[in-house]
Amino acid sequence: MSWAAHDLEPYLFRAKLGGAISLPLCLAGSYSPDIMSKWAVYGLDFSGDAKLVADPVQLHRGWPGVGFTHSLAFGLLMAGLILLVSRGNRMWALSFLLGAWAHVFSDTLDSVGVMLLFPLTDWHLHFDAWQYVGQAGRKEDAIAYYTSLGGVWDILWATWLAFHWRMFTADHFHREIVPRDTFWLWLRTRASDSVMLTLYRASAFFGVASIAGWYIWALFVNELHPSLDWSLGGPQWAPRVGPP
Ligand SMILES: [Zn+2]
Repeated sequence: MSWAAHDLEPYLFRAKLGGAISLPLCLAGSYSPDIMSKWAVYGLDFSGDAKLVADPVQLHRGWPGVGFTHSLAFGLLMAGLILLVSRGNRMWALSFLLGAWAHVFSDTLDSVGVMLLFPLTDWHLHFDAWQYVGQAGRKEDAIAYYTSLGGVWDILWATWLAFHWRMFTADHFHREIVPRDTFWLWLRTRASDSVMLTLYRASAFFGVASIAGWYIWALFVNELHPSLDWSLGGPQWAPRVGPP
């Protein structure tokens, strides 16, 4: 799986594709595949000790399970629903689709991968750049991810976004973002400027803060595996896990 990349990718799409992209809908698409399942993959409590799901990998990425959320068809289906509910807002539907598909393709980089063409086939596309460690719980997953090439993947997105820092200024938000998206125009009649700006920046702030926080934690605070392993398919200490 990917971590902060899912929080950051939509901003880059907005920066590169401009007014064709609704950032809130693209973020919703990017969050959508994991939003219902992450808590169960890690176990229901925050200690990470509860084993309430017999096979987290099967649940998260397989079928039967909620692995269908990580398919091209799921994004299309949701985009179709948005089109229907919004009475034909193609910008919203396409933005959601782009976010959802970016999530799906990002997750092909781990060792479990995704059922890209579900329901046609339950075949998994996986490039094995880093190990899937979700089954071990949130803490161990974070250490494995941020000490492997997964962390590098997050840093790439954050660095690329840093070159677009201007998009986070209040001036840019009010001049370029708000007038082109009916979401913000609708919200403007209900929320103050500072609330809107905070919402606009939140996911980028959260993404960059989690990269910094998890790196510090993975390398300096925990005593399990505090060293980087940028070998392909790493970290090597993690159990080998493939598609269910
Ligand atoms: Zn995912």
